[in-house]
This record gives sequence, C-alpha cells and structure tokens, in this order.
Amino acid sequence: MNIGIVGLGSIGGSLGLDLRSRGHRVLGVARRRETCQAAIARQIVDDADVDFTLMESADLVFVCTPIAAIAPTVQRLVPHLSSTAIITDVGSVKTPVAQAVAPLWPRFVPGHPMAGTERSGLDAAISNLFADRPYAITPLASTPPAATEQVAAIAASLQARVYYCTPEDHDRSVAWISHLPVMVAASLIDACLSEPSTTAIALAQKFASTGFRDTTRVGGGNPELGMMMAQYNRQELLRSLCTYRQRLDAFICAIESENWAALEQFLQRTQDARPQFLTFPDSIDSPPDRNSLE
Ligand code: NAP
Repeated sequence: MNIGIVGLGSIGGSLGLDLRSRGHRVLGVARRRETCQAAIARQIVDDADVDFTLMESADLVFVCTPIAAIAPTVQRLVPHLSSTAIITDVGSVKTPVAQAVAPLWPRFVPGHPMAGTERSGLDAAISNLFADRPYAITPLASTPPAATEQVAAIAASLQARVYYCTPEDHDRSVAWISHLPVMVAASLIDACLSEPSTTAIALAQKFASTGFRDTTRVGGGNPELGMMMAQYNRQELLRSLCTYRQRLDAFICAIESENWAALEQFLQRTQDARPQFLTFPDSIDSPPDRNSLE
C-alpha cells in the first residue's frame, strides 16, 4: 500500500518506521525541507516533500499534525488526493476534529493511537511505539465501514489493540486517563517548586526516584500538546479536574481530622481499583453497527 504521513513528528515518524517495516511505501509531507531530508535519511519514509502533490498516489493518509492544524491540513491535502483515498488522523481529541474534517472528505476515519513519549519532533520517533497500546477508532454514522476496516487493519498490523467508540465517548474517557493526568502531574511538579526551603528542594531533587518519575512523567511532556488537550477537550477536562479537586479535599479533610479509617478506606479502594485500568481484555473489539452511530 502507498501510505502518506503529513506531519513528521514523534507520532508521524514512529508510524513511518513501523509502516515501512511492514512493507508499505511511505510518503511524508513536512513543513520544512530539513525534516523531509532527516526522515529520508533515517529511513522513516521512502520519499518526502514539503509539497502535497506527493500525496497523489497515496491510498491512505495519516494526518499527524498538532490538533489545531488537522482540519486546515486536510483542507490543503484534499485537492491532491485520488477519490478513493482514505484520510485518518491521530489527534488526541476526537469530537472537534471529526466535526471539522468529516465534511471535507467522505472517506475520513477519526483515530487516536494512545502511545507516546514525553519527547516531540522527528528525533523522538521510535519503532514499535504502538505495539500493545490502545488505538481508538471513532467513526461517524457517515464514515464508510470499508474505510474504518482499512484503518483498523493497519492499526492492528502495528500490534495495537483496536477499540471503537463515538468521538464523544472517546473524549470523555481520555479526559480521565490522559488529559487529567497531564494536568495533575504538571501541578504536582509545580507544587514541589513552591517549597521555600532550598535545602529541602535540593534534597527532594536528589531523592526523587521511580515513584516520582512514574507519577510526573506526563507532566514533563510537550506543552503544546497539553495546551491543545485543554483547549479542544475543555468541558470534559474541567469536569474531571473539578471531581479530582473534590477527591483531594476529601483526602485533606481525612488527614486534618486524623480520620485514619476513612483514609485507609480511600487507599484500599484505589489499590483494588488500579488493576482495572492496567489489565486488558483478550477479546478483540468489533466495528460498531452503523445504525448505533446515527
Ligand atoms: P510533534 O512531535 O510536535 O509533531 C508534530 C508535527 O506536525 C511536526 O512534524 C510539525 O512540523 C508538524 N506541524 C506542527 N505545526 C504544524 C502546522 N501548523 N501545520 C502543519 N504541520 C505542523 O507532535 P506529536 O506528539 O507527534 O503529535 C502529533 C499529533 O499526535 C497531535 O495531534 C497529538 O494530539 C497526537 N498524539 C500525540 C501523542 C503523544 O503522546 N505525543 C499521542 C497520541 C496522539 P515541524 O517538524 O516542521 O515543526
């Protein structure tokens, strides 16, 4: 298959590495010539250009730009595509992207591979990023099922775990497990920085080990991505942040009042619940019934 990638950053570049290793011909479009040259040199793509005409032979195009640039990019891309080409995107928020892009191209399949590192740009591209990671596909009622199946097959070929849901359900759920954690981790780092004792903060920086690294990893990522999660998934993020603030208040209240039984109950409940977020069902998700999306 000829597969196009527009936006050769961490996600676009990682897709290129994996898709080429599966035998596809990968064509990249980037804003800067240096990015095109670097992508060819690293064998992330077979060919790359700053010009969208390179996409004329693409059967499927992944749009891997920041969220705000997805719809404008598709607008520039469509005059160059064959009428049978499929477009998919990798944006971390789905409802506004699906609403803006679906009217621009009938064969558009909104998607979100849930994998990444705290690094950004082409240098951050790595092989096998998507293996054993969730890959959400959020078709609309108007999305042709054959296009959805094609994107799902490519995602599955990267060893990703493919799930289907509506864009709205996607955005509500990722607010909890992705966008809220970014804000929580960032505010945790920021709270540590408010420590007035230079001795204590210097020691904290020396003592920080795996627990701190695990808890704060997503707070040290690309600020542009965090900003766009907040801007494009504002309602759902605010909902989860306010609930989180209430839970923090409950913890503070239990500790202030030395209600150790209540604190233990909280911690027991969270210890019991955590595995439910980290173990995966073996079954493969099936594509949605089109009528259920109306
Ligand atoms: P990234 O590493 O910063 O790469 C973004 C790419 O888009 C770069 O190639 C950049 O080009 C290009 N770009 C930036 N602004 C653009 C614009 N206005 N018009 C056209 N191209 C533009 O970002 P990323 O982490 O790969 O994220 C890309 C997409 O993946 C986002 O939609 C994000 O929501 C989604 N996503 C990210 C993660 C993650 O953890 N990182 C996970 C899942 C999904 P230059 O190189 O020229 O700057």
